[in-house]
Amino acid sequence: MSDFQGRVAIVSGASSGIGEATAMRLGRDAADLVLLASPNDREDLSRVENQLHAMGARVVTLAADLSEPTTARQAVQTAMTEFGRLDYLVNNAGIIGHHGFFEETIEDFDRMMAVNARGAYLLAIEAAKAMADGGAIVCTASVSSWLGEELQVAYNTSKGAVLMIVRTLGLELAPYGIRVNGVAPGYIRTRMSQARLNGGGYWDKARSRIPLDRPGEPEEVANVITFLLSSEASFMYGSVIVVDGGQSAGMRSTDWAAAGQDSAPRPPRRLIS
Ligand code: NAP
Repeated sequence: MSDFQGRVAIVSGASSGIGEATAMRLGRDAADLVLLASPNDREDLSRVENQLHAMGARVVTLAADLSEPTTARQAVQTAMTEFGRLDYLVNNAGIIGHHGFFEETIEDFDRMMAVNARGAYLLAIEAAKAMADGGAIVCTASVSSWLGEELQVAYNTSKGAVLMIVRTLGLELAPYGIRVNGVAPGYIRTRMSQARLNGGGYWDKARSRIPLDRPGEPEEVANVITFLLSSEASFMYGSVIVVDGGQSAGMRSTDWAAAGQDSAPRPPRRLIS
């Protein structure tokens, strides 16, 4: 039997990308789900809900803005009213913006912090209050939680805050039997990254940092999120797992794709005699 059968999870940012992939994975493993996304895109939220219903999963949706302090409480109340318990939170919703430091406005900065940092903080606290012993929270941080990147000062600051939510709540909620961990994706092929991955010179430069020479898929992050939620991760508190195809392991000094090879080099096979 799956760890998730009969358990209840809130997934924020469930209408696309990493949140959608995680919701599909949890639904397949028979969790009951509250799917949360912004009110901007009810169509995608319904699409994900319908796919999960077709798989036989029990699902309710909430289209509400996480920057509103009432949204987190509403999400938790929905879980309790509809399913009578809350076991897991996938604290994943987020936005990005690319602005030069001198062009960025206070409003841009405040919006990023309100959704990515305060929204994640409020959802974690409200969920923890309702969780039973054995509950687990996974927050989606980013390699940008500790790597600087130009044109992203507000985003990176907000993701640095998510890292600290993971580490601090990892300590503070441990005595209550609630595990808080995080995942730090690199470049993942989602709506958030689509413009940069598809367009012009940005990806040409970014790809040279990734030994695999490709972006990750949302499912490759969802696999790690569901591992961190599961009892397989029972000794993990306040940890963050990087899922970035090797991007932040160090500095890459070869570039086989740029050298014209169309597949990754094979390791030399030598028999040890
Ligand atoms: P995505 O496909 O754009 O998904 C973002 C999700 O967050 C959507 O469901 C969106 O809902 C929801 N959301 C945005 N603002 C919201 C708000 N104010 N209230 C409630 N929900 C809101 O992007 P993604 O790549 O899967 O992003 C998921 C997480 O991964 C984010 O935290 C992001 O920072 C992080 N991440 C992504 C990458 C990457 O390369 N893609 C790398 C590192 C970290 P609507 O669609 O309804 O707006």
